[in-house]
Amino acid sequence: MSVVLNGKEIAASIIENIKKQTEKLQEKPTLAIILVGHNEASRIYVRNKCSAAQKAGLQAELLEFEENVSAKTLKEKIQSLNLDSHIHGIIIQLPLPAHLPTQELLETVDPLKDVDGFHPLNAGLLQNNNPAAFAPATARGVMTLLRETGVELEGKNALVIGRSQIVGKPVAQMLLNKNCTVTIAHSKTQNLPALVQNADIVVAACGRPKMVKASWLKKGAIVMDVGINRVENKLTGDVDFEPAKEVASFITPVPGGVGPMTVAMLLQNTLEAYLKQKNS
Ligand code: NAD
Repeated sequence: MSVVLNGKEIAASIIENIKKQTEKLQEKPTLAIILVGHNEASRIYVRNKCSAAQKAGLQAELLEFEENVSAKTLKEKIQSLNLDSHIHGIIIQLPLPAHLPTQELLETVDPLKDVDGFHPLNAGLLQNNNPAAFAPATARGVMTLLRETGVELEGKNALVIGRSQIVGKPVAQMLLNKNCTVTIAHSKTQNLPALVQNADIVVAACGRPKMVKASWLKKGAIVMDVGINRVENKLTGDVDFEPAKEVASFITPVPGGVGPMTVAMLLQNTLEAYLKQKNS
């Protein structure tokens, strides 16, 4: 029987802590959120980010664009936000409509305001284990939950299932920075159950509902479920949670695990961006 890590509670205490810090500031750190089109899930995520920002004493400025907005218009907007000294963090809510060049737009964000950590400069700093990097919020959320377990990470076998730019790769990099022995699995990986069986830490970020089975897990493994899948109108993770919690030592639920941590870490990054900009 495992400890179920309560991401909601841990995130709330991080937000409370950010609030204590923002109360002492003369100006409210401000996060600009670029939202394009009518993707329902994106709208929910953005709403959550705005309300959490308010709780943390930060300001969120929502910039909405029509589905058919041009790359040029977005680029110009990002460039003006880069120069605006009242804006301390900028995020582009993904996914963008197919006609837009996502990577090019992400690279337009000033790395000092890139609180999603998606700019290649921040990815490079993370790779160099440089503390100046803004780490992507979900990856930082996973690492914070791992710290909550109190388990020493050094030397552990960590398996990250998923190699996306925004979750899998940064989590794997951060685990490596903590001296884990890291394996990255992806859609072309052979014999995933055997890799899971060997892992002390499993981070599931593949977007496949309940794919990771309890029978694959090593007894006492730490299981971080990043997946958010809507199945029959219910949110489900990438891990078969109920049986897995009988085998794992620590496990995150979906919802209420990594999800709320992602929002809290975005706000933490925004506060840190503000402090960096003021101190530079
Ligand atoms: P993605 O689709 O960009 O990447 C999925 C990755 O999983 C790919 O690298 C792919 O190779 C791998 N994969 C797919 N099928 C696989 C299989 N059968 N075996 C092994 N690997 C496989 O997705 P993403 O953006 O990285 O998100 C992953 C999941 O995490 C999604 O469910 C997403 O909704 C969720 N997510 C949650 C949060 C959060 O805050 N909790 C944040 C971002 C994403």
